[in-house]
Amino acid sequence: MTGFIHSIQSLGTVDGPGVRFVAFLQGCPLRCSCCHNPDTWEAGSGTATTAAALVDKAAQFRDYFGKKGGVTLSGGEPLMQAGFAAEVFRLCRERGIHTCLDTSGVCVNDDTRRLLSSCDRVLLDIKYTDDTLYRRHVGMPLQNALDFLSVVNEQHIPTTLRQVVIPTVNDTDENFAALRRLAHEHACVDGIELLPFRKICQVKYDELGISFPFAHIPEADPAAVRQWEKQSNMQTIPWAF
Ligand code: SF4
Repeated sequence: MTGFIHSIQSLGTVDGPGVRFVAFLQGCPLRCSCCHNPDTWEAGSGTATTAAALVDKAAQFRDYFGKKGGVTLSGGEPLMQAGFAAEVFRLCRERGIHTCLDTSGVCVNDDTRRLLSSCDRVLLDIKYTDDTLYRRHVGMPLQNALDFLSVVNEQHIPTTLRQVVIPTVNDTDENFAALRRLAHEHACVDGIELLPFRKICQVKYDELGISFPFAHIPEADPAAVRQWEKQSNMQTIPWAF
């Protein structure tokens, strides 16, 4: 089975536990105002590869994975190539390689369920906990991500909720309380990871000739984000900062 890859990070340390081979899949139907990877949006471009070839390549790095590491599929949105991603994870499982899915949870279908059946951890990016903000700055209803979370919960897959903290947009007590509630309501969630909003992606927007919707928003101070976590009594995870 063939998929389209935007890029690969051979030894990543921020997208899941331990040291990981991270494949960023091409294609995303969302248009997040805070997106750092607008160059991954276009479906069908990127480098074509088979699932077997990708897993062979990942396996070359398994000595670095240790007990916790493995393979992460990110994007773009990996659910847009869920059949390919499912095959990659199935082959990883066969070889005893830990699998992690980094997603916005945009849809659930048969391929998604097959993908989740070989998934050891989900990193679910809940961009906003308010539907109005979600629709305005993502372009879809929040409910899609919540439906995805319900399926992950039913399948008991350990899950980290991720959120980019965007000053003046979602850095509110209300939002963090809602995020905590989501975690408490879903037994699969074992951590919340807050990431500071950055603007280093501006250069990509310039190269693509499109405007960065959040160009006017200030970057988040990482220390302030850590403080939010402390104040909110959030259960954070070791690789968050
Ligand atoms: S889901 Fe990710 S890749 Fe897609 S638009 Fe949003 S931030 Fe960008």
